[in-house]
Amino acid sequence: MPIFEYACQDCGHEFETLVRSGTVPACPGCHSTDLVKQLSVFATGAGAPAAGQAMAAAGPCGSCGHPAGPGACALQ
Ligand SMILES: [Zn+2]
Repeated sequence: MPIFEYACQDCGHEFETLVRSGTVPACPGCHSTDLVKQLSVFATGAGAPAAGQAMAAAGPCGSCGHPAGPGACALQ
């Protein structure tokens, strides 16, 4: 079951909530349904993997031996 983070457009409250299909999340503070879905949950969850991907991405460039340094080979 997905957990989404929302920002209330009425009171500015940010919160996370489980969202079931067919239901509309409401602000726990003012009960408004004028919400904007945030993406920070995904950023938080992918924090460690993203760092790992960055290191992995730098691997090929760092090992290519290009004289201009790591990443230079990607510009050609
Ligand atoms: Zn609110």
